[in-house]
Amino acid sequence: MAGFSSRIICYKLQLQTMTYYPTIGLEIHAELKTRTKMFCNSKNDSDETEPNVNVCPICMAHPGTLPVINKEAVRHILRIGTAIKGTIADFSEFDRKSYFYPDIPKGYQISQYEHPLVTNGELLGVAITRVHLEEDTARSIHAHGKSLVDFNRAGIPLMELVTEPVLKDAETAGRFARELQLLLRTLSASGANLEKGEMRIEANVSISSSKDAFGTKVEVKNINSFRSVERAIAYEIQRQTALIESGGKVSQETRGWDEAKQVTFHQRFKEGSADYRYFPEPDLPKLIISEIPEFTSAALKASLPELPWERRARYESLGIRKEYIEALMQDEFINAMFEGVAQHASKKDTTLIGLAANYIVSDIVGLMQDQKVEETCAYKNPKEFQKVFYKLVEMIKENKVSSRGAKDILALLYRSGGDPEVIAQERGLLQSHDVDFLRMSVLHVLQEQTKAVEEYQAGKEASLQYLIGMSMKKTKGAGNPAKLKELIVEELKSKLG
Ligand code: ADP
Ligand code: MG
Repeated sequence: MAGFSSRIICYKLQLQTMTYYPTIGLEIHAELKTRTKMFCNSKNDSDETEPNVNVCPICMAHPGTLPVINKEAVRHILRIGTAIKGTIADFSEFDRKSYFYPDIPKGYQISQYEHPLVTNGELLGVAITRVHLEEDTARSIHAHGKSLVDFNRAGIPLMELVTEPVLKDAETAGRFARELQLLLRTLSASGANLEKGEMRIEANVSISSSKDAFGTKVEVKNINSFRSVERAIAYEIQRQTALIESGGKVSQETRGWDEAKQVTFHQRFKEGSADYRYFPEPDLPKLIISEIPEFTSAALKASLPELPWERRARYESLGIRKEYIEALMQDEFINAMFEGVAQHASKKDTTLIGLAANYIVSDIVGLMQDQKVEETCAYKNPKEFQKVFYKLVEMIKENKVSSRGAKDILALLYRSGGDPEVIAQERGLLQSHDVDFLRMSVLHVLQEQTKAVEEYQAGKEASLQYLIGMSMKKTKGAGNPAKLKELIVEELKSKLG
């Protein structure tokens, strides 16, 4: 997405007296997939719609209760840290971050400050500062002149990942956020769904007239799609540029992204970190990671599945065209279809694998974009669809169906299920290898289409295509176009000779 708005900015910059260098740093939160909450036994269920059912005295901060660290959540952060080649802390601890708000029952959030679980690391070449573990806040709902609080979310384990201020443009920031989503899903660490609030992105944006100095940063919140990440950053660069150009000064503030108006708006001026009065959480033990056998670096490494960049490299080695690889990576359903073929085909069968990639990117993606998968796809279980898809791709490879026929069969399979061979038979889409039958059909066409024959013989190539088309029609789609072409050329040659 080459960002419509970023092009406008380039245009505007040309009219300006100065060049400005944008700097962007991201802070990304993600709810971790665990059975229970971060410090208690209440259920971690982001799909729960009834408010205040997944609560207990601990996450409701009743006096005298004690938190207990969720090991599953720690493990998620350590695996993320290992995947991004970060430094896993040996000593780590939790801290209290104090502030008052109705969505924070204790009056503080348990987070990490000086000793996060992970420091350093990199993703898509973007340097990562830290990855730490904290607890989510409750959800506030403001409606009908009232404010309501749902505590189901309070205490759900939350990852916070902070990048260095090294991003230079909106598109790269968007790409980074998408890659992180893919990584979190690959690791089964988070559903990372932006619309559900499982993943939340905050962008820090500044501009400077010097390459070697940072400008004052503005933090943008309430961004709820990847497209909005790009647009909010582009907007903010534009706003700050206009502000400075008109003699103004950027002030350090938190702004919100208004999706309807496509603008950022002032929310509050930034508080310094001292205001949170961070101090180590006295109710929790310190963590000495090296003392936990499952958390040695070797054990963590061994627990990682194939990572997104490793998967891309494998697809490249299978001969998949570069422009297809991203399309095959971006959606779980699409990826499952492709893996269904890639994992079951012999590695050397690049024809079969290439055909599968082709039909997935050009047909299944289109079918999915028609409507939501859940509504139209006949297969609730992608494994079942993988099987019939594999069978269809084999039929295509063996020339049993034409590419046109295959597209029709695929659409039918997608919507109503079934067996590709049976569908092909019923709809007369099986290609005939009966050469005598095909030759008879071709001869009929050549007799009927004297004008096209003359034109072809006079050198008009398009007429050959027409004759092939008519022959396919004559065979009711059963003829393979390549074979029909061969027969037409052969017959016309012998006619001349
Ligand atoms: P704070 O103390 O305000 O939280 P940090 O230094 O911890 O600031 O950085 C928070 C985020 O802001 C990080 O993602 C970082 O990359 C980013 N950031 C820091 N300085 C700048 C800057 N000048 N321009 C853009 N982003 C920045
Ligand atoms: Mg900070």
